[in-house]
Amino acid sequence: MIESPLLEKMTGYIGGRWTDNAQGKTFDVYNPATGKVIAQAPSMTEDEVKAAVAAGKSALRLTSPYSIETRRKWLEDIRDALKANKEEVGRILCMEHGKPLQEAQGEVDYAAGFFDYCSKHIQALDAHTIPEKPKDCTWTVHYRPIGVAGLITPWNFPIGMIAKKLSAALAAGCPSVIKPASETPLTMIALFSLMDKHTDMPDGMVNLVMGKASVIGKVLCESPDVPMLSFTGSTEVGRKLILDTAEQVKKLALELGGNAPFIVFDDADLDAAADNLIANKFRGGGQTCVCANRIFVHEKVADVFGQKLAERVNRMTVGDGINGDVDLGPLINQAGFDKVKRHLEDALEKGAGLVAGKKPEDLGDNLFFPPTVITDVDRDMCCYREETFGPLVPMALFRTEEEVIEAGNDTEFGLASYVFTGDAERAQRVAAGLRFGHCGWNTGTGPTPEAPFGGMKASGIGREGGLEGLFEFVEAQTVPRGF
Ligand code: ADP
Repeated sequence: MIESPLLEKMTGYIGGRWTDNAQGKTFDVYNPATGKVIAQAPSMTEDEVKAAVAAGKSALRLTSPYSIETRRKWLEDIRDALKANKEEVGRILCMEHGKPLQEAQGEVDYAAGFFDYCSKHIQALDAHTIPEKPKDCTWTVHYRPIGVAGLITPWNFPIGMIAKKLSAALAAGCPSVIKPASETPLTMIALFSLMDKHTDMPDGMVNLVMGKASVIGKVLCESPDVPMLSFTGSTEVGRKLILDTAEQVKKLALELGGNAPFIVFDDADLDAAADNLIANKFRGGGQTCVCANRIFVHEKVADVFGQKLAERVNRMTVGDGINGDVDLGPLINQAGFDKVKRHLEDALEKGAGLVAGKKPEDLGDNLFFPPTVITDVDRDMCCYREETFGPLVPMALFRTEEEVIEAGNDTEFGLASYVFTGDAERAQRVAAGLRFGHCGWNTGTGPTPEAPFGGMKASGIGREGGLEGLFEFVEAQTVPRGF
């Protein structure tokens, strides 16, 4: 079992207090590197989730809102607590997710960055009076907190994803009811320990519920006291939330699946493209929504590029992330492993070639999937059509710019994309043609707290990060004053 000063309580947190585990029901939390149970977290009841919503409602202040200074201080305190406890939060994250320790600790810094960014730009949420005086009135625009927000996060960035949502919610003055993924509740409990000890937020401002998604999701969707949900996860669940909240016309911020194209033209710096692809693709074991999923390589350079990838991939180490010098940890669970294996089998059966990695029949009986490169992939293969969410690099060949823009867009998703070329005009054309919320030019980098990030098409609604993200949890209210 995991021991940590940040995990002294293993319960939900409602109205400023750690809760009792009312029903006594729990669910197991595993370390995917060892397959062992490391904790048991409470499976909370519908009544407890309703109590969390009520606590949130009691913390909402409309007629005497929390001042900008007060909200800034909450954000700064969380940022500082995360930075001061980066090692321990990262260790917990590594143990329940499996990503390498350094990467896990880097994610804590990344999370702190969102609180930092919001604290530095919160002034943008102050009311302002517009310069014109139409209709003989003075027009003031206020940014009101939308109300209690349900924040639902996935397991692939246990601290990063909540940081994106919570920083903007707190900046707006919105209380929240937070539900982590059942694979990774411990990092969230650690965050609540830090907020409990190191911030002076009013009771009910942040509430933690864990357990069955169906129970928690139902309360959050049905309660009229929760006017907004911010969700990151699968498109399937995102669609369900849209349907389940349609009756009340709730505001939704959704960051859903991706199927990122990574395009390498023949005039690109191939070594830089290969280095960037490795950094991008194997982050979090290939389990991020911005990981390159389809690698389009110009046919003239496909062989050379494949060799460059193989050299790099063959040098990578796979193992338990807690042991320091490991490039790649395990996949999150058996279902995740089986999906990557199925994609590899399907591609090889349909004619793809193995450039690096193991054949499906040689894979071990654990969750460690070796980094794998395949080539001659086409649109009939599962790895082209679906998000693989694992360390499989599928290369498809192309000839022309138009053809590759069309192929890149040949998906319902539109989250992240990447283009590598030495031709600036071509890069501009391709970026404009790709219907993706993020398009890296000669970089495989993903989001950052300072810039907006989010999906086009079925990849979501809304933005996180940047000024756009800061405004997600407020509603503009316009007050024209007649005399
Ligand atoms: P992933 O495939 O990344 O696990 P999911 O969409 O299944 O993505 O889960 C993302 C988050 O959404 C998790 O916290 C999960 O428990 C939660 N979730 C799943 N189903 C629902 C639902 N019906 N209502 C609310 N939350 C849900």
